[in-house]
Amino acid sequence: MSASCDVLVVGGGPVGACAAHALAADGASVTLIEKEGQICPPVSGAHANCGLLMPSYVTPLAAPGALGHGLRWLRDSSSPFYIAPRPSGALLRWLWLYRAAATPARARAAAPVLHALHAASADLHDALAREGGERWLYHHDGIVQAYEAPDAMDEAADEAEAARGLGVRADILSPAEVRARFPGHRGAVAGGLFFPDDGHMDPALFTRAMADKAAAAGAEVRRGTEAIALEPAGTGAVRVVTTRGDFVADQVVLAAGAGTPALTKGLDLALPIEPAKGYSVDIERPDDFPELPLYLGDAHCVLTPLGDALRLGSTLELSGWDMTIRRQRVAGLRRAAERVMGIPADAPVRQVWRGPRPVTPDGLPVVGRVSRRERVILATGHCMLGLSLGPVTGKLVAELAGGRPPSLDLKPLSPIRFG
Ligand SMILES: Cc1cc2nc3c(=O)[nH]c(=O)nc-3n(C[C@H](O)[C@H](O)[C@H](O)COP(=O)(O)OP(=O)(O)OC[C@H]3O[C@@H](n4cnc5c(N)ncnc54)[C@H](O)[C@@H]3O)c2cc1C
Repeated sequence: MSASCDVLVVGGGPVGACAAHALAADGASVTLIEKEGQICPPVSGAHANCGLLMPSYVTPLAAPGALGHGLRWLRDSSSPFYIAPRPSGALLRWLWLYRAAATPARARAAAPVLHALHAASADLHDALAREGGERWLYHHDGIVQAYEAPDAMDEAADEAEAARGLGVRADILSPAEVRARFPGHRGAVAGGLFFPDDGHMDPALFTRAMADKAAAAGAEVRRGTEAIALEPAGTGAVRVVTTRGDFVADQVVLAAGAGTPALTKGLDLALPIEPAKGYSVDIERPDDFPELPLYLGDAHCVLTPLGDALRLGSTLELSGWDMTIRRQRVAGLRRAAERVMGIPADAPVRQVWRGPRPVTPDGLPVVGRVSRRERVILATGHCMLGLSLGPVTGKLVAELAGGRPPSLDLKPLSPIRFG
């Protein structure tokens, strides 16, 4: 016997939970499956991420400058961006596609795509937060980026100027204005940027709230259920073989983050998505740390206040599925917080976490149908933006599944754009 539903969503991260919610709210009979025993588990890419909502973030991962830094940092495993050298055809293909995408023209073309996704998602985040945002510590009051080196500040100001051209609001801050917002700031500061339309929240609490909302709207949420393979079900539907029996669904949404390529192999689709490991450390929030996230631009370290905790996070490591915690990378985050904010690098730790971001070579998500299997919708590859873009992806998935024209152009997000 197989269980059946209109739409089966695979993956209980922010993208899958938002998709299940949007589909159920649309009236579809939805089942959401998550392989672990909880929604947004520690092995997901979002469990303890930096919690930023970043409509201001319109520079894709594959930007020309990023490539230069990446090559310089390649051999330093304590640097913010690290590629563990290893013989991997998938990694070589990813790097090749990344190199091709990291041109000024491609980055310029990607920026309005990201901006449109962000703008729509920010409105949806606000609407969701109106019905209980305090449950996931939702704040929509901006974020600050601060720079120690004058040339890094100049580069960031130029980027902000370009983003302004798309409608992103960004204010330049003097060193005194940065210090006024962060009384604990005691490092060098050349200046900063304030992005008033950005925000922050707790990623795991948000994702679980979305799964709860999906369940309240009629979705079935099955934890501890891992998708193993997809097969044709004979009736045009899709059979999803799982560790807890088979499901037959009219349509399937693959939202398994960096685990999605393992499921598309059987669909003759080699998705170039790598698990890019990132880290976070939670410590007690200093009394004088305001309700405002701070990104230390030179060190690539984010400090996000979450209730009585302060989360230090980021770094990007392409080590495949090696999820070993490299202590020097955690130490790098703590040293940056000590140098700039005077937070002792040996202050007691509440939690150290690492998780895989699903990164595409061009820095854009993958949202759309798989051409050879029209009943399968992909919703993955959100790189460092899955929390920010979860709601708009959910909306796009519901539009596709419901047979309605998508409200945004999906061509740049096509699953087959990499060949
Ligand atoms: C350190 C760090 C900081 C970050 N900071 C931010 C930030 O500030 N803002 C932001 O927007 N984004 C941030 N990100 C990125 C964001 O977390 C990812 O883009 C996001 O996790 C992608 O969401 P997802 O739902 O696609 O995938 P995931 O969150 O990885 O969820 C996928 C889920 O699918 C499940 N799964 C996998 N395979 C299967 C299977 N076969 N069957 C069933 N279930 C399966 C997994 O267990 C997992 O729960 C950060 C990431 C990291 C690592």
